[in-house]
Amino acid sequence: MARIVMKFGGTSVADLDRIKNVARHVKREVDAGHEVAVVVSAMSGKTNELVGWVQGTPKVVGANSPFYDAREYDAVVASGEQVTCGLLAIALHAMDINARSWQGWQIPIRTDNAHGAARILEIDGADIIKRMGEGQVAVIAGFQGLGPDNRIATLGRGGSDTSAVAIAAAVKADRCDIYTDVDGVYTTDPRIVPQARRLKKIAFEEMLEMASLGAKVLQVRSVELAMVHKVRTFVRSSFEDPDAPGMGDLLNPPGTLICDEDEIVEQEVVTGIAYAKDEAQISLRRLADRPGVSAAIFGPLAESHINVDMIVQNISEDGSKTDMTFTVPSGDVEKAIKVLGENKEKIGYDVVQNESGLVKVSVIGIGMRSHAGVAATAFKALAEKGINIKAITTSEIKISILIDGPYAELAVRTLHSCYGLDKN
Ligand code: ADP
Ligand code: ASP
Ligand code: MG
Repeated sequence: MARIVMKFGGTSVADLDRIKNVARHVKREVDAGHEVAVVVSAMSGKTNELVGWVQGTPKVVGANSPFYDAREYDAVVASGEQVTCGLLAIALHAMDINARSWQGWQIPIRTDNAHGAARILEIDGADIIKRMGEGQVAVIAGFQGLGPDNRIATLGRGGSDTSAVAIAAAVKADRCDIYTDVDGVYTTDPRIVPQARRLKKIAFEEMLEMASLGAKVLQVRSVELAMVHKVRTFVRSSFEDPDAPGMGDLLNPPGTLICDEDEIVEQEVVTGIAYAKDEAQISLRRLADRPGVSAAIFGPLAESHINVDMIVQNISEDGSKTDMTFTVPSGDVEKAIKVLGENKEKIGYDVVQNESGLVKVSVIGIGMRSHAGVAATAFKALAEKGINIKAITTSEIKISILIDGPYAELAVRTLHSCYGLDKN
C-alpha cells in the first residue's frame, strides 16, 4: 500500500465526462488499496475567463489598473478550482468512493502575501492524512491557499502543479502523479514538433530549465519543490484508458519520471529544446562606459519588478561609449521604458529603442557540462536556415538564443533535429 497524490490539469477536467474519467483513474488507485489525495485545476479555459472578467471590471467602473486589488483578483480566479473539486467529489461518491472536497483555506495551505503569485509556506497535512488513513479520498482545489491576511491567495498561472507537489511533500506521499493532456515530458513541445520523443526520465535540473525557459508542462515552482523535497514526480496522461494494463504500476507507471541525475543511466548531451514567446528587446544607445552604469539601469528595473533576462553590452570603437541591450517580457516593455525615462539623467544614455515579438529558444542538457561544441552546432544549424541571432546567453546546462518571432517554429525544429532528438 502506498500514499499517492494525483493532480489533474484543466483539459483533464474540462467537462463532466472528463471528470468522470478522472474519477475512474482515482478509483483504480483506491481499489488497489492506496491512500489517495487528488488535486484539481479549473476546467480548461475557466481561469482565462475569470482573469478576463477581473481585467474587464476596472474598465467598466473606471479604475485604471487591471489588477487594482490583487486580493479580489484572487477571490475571483480561485473559484474555478472550487467548482472542479466539488464536482469530482460528487463523481467519486457516484462510484461509491468515500471522498471529500477541500479548498486551500480548509486544509490550510498557508502562503505568503504575494496575491496573484503567492508562494506556499506551510501545509498542515494532519487532517487529510488522518482521513486518508480512514479510507477517505481528499479532493483538493489546486492553485490556491490562505495568505497571512486570512484571504485566498493564488499561486500564479499553472500553480496547481505546485499545489500537488507541495501536498505530496506535506503528506510524505510515495509518488506525485501530474496527469495532463500529453503522456509525459517530451524532448520539446510535441504540439510544435511531431518528431519529439517522450523521455522516460528527466533530471530535476533539466526540468527546471525546461520549465523556466518556456515548456509549460510543469510550473517552475513545482519542479523546485519536487527537487528540494525529493518528491517522486511523474508526468502522465489522463487520456489513456484508466484500466489499461500497466496504468496502476506502483514503481513504473507510464509517463516521465522527474528524478536525480544519478538515476539516469544514459545521459544524452542535449535533453530538450524549449521556447518562450513574447520576449522584447530594449537597447540603450551611447551610454558612458564607467562603473555604476549597469547598476543605474537594472536597479530601478528590479525595484519595479521587471524581470530582465538576456543582457548584451557592446563597447563602441573609441571605447568611450557603450550600448546595452537586454530582454524583458513583451508585457513589461511600456513599464520598462517609463522607468528608464525617469532615470535618464542618472543612467546617462542617448536614445532607447525597443523591439517586441521576439522568441527565445533554448537548448538544455546536463551532458553539456562535459561536452564542447554544443553551442557551435546550434549556431551553424540556425545559420543554414537563414535565422538571425539577436542575443545569446549560456549557462552550464543551457544555451538560449533570441530570434525574430516568425522563425520560432523553424528554429525549434532545426535545433531538435541537429542534436539528433527526432524520433526515427
Ligand atoms: P494542464 O492543463 O494539464 O496543466 P498544460 O497545458 O499546463 O496542462 O501543460 C501541458 C502542455 O504542455 C502540453 O499540452 C504541451 O503542449 C505543453 N508542453 C510544452 N513543452 C512540453 C514538453 N517538453 N513536453 C510535454 N509537453 C509540453
Ligand atoms: N487554473 C490555473 C491556471 O489556469 C492553475 C492551473 O491550471 O494549474 O493557471
Ligand atoms: Mg499546467
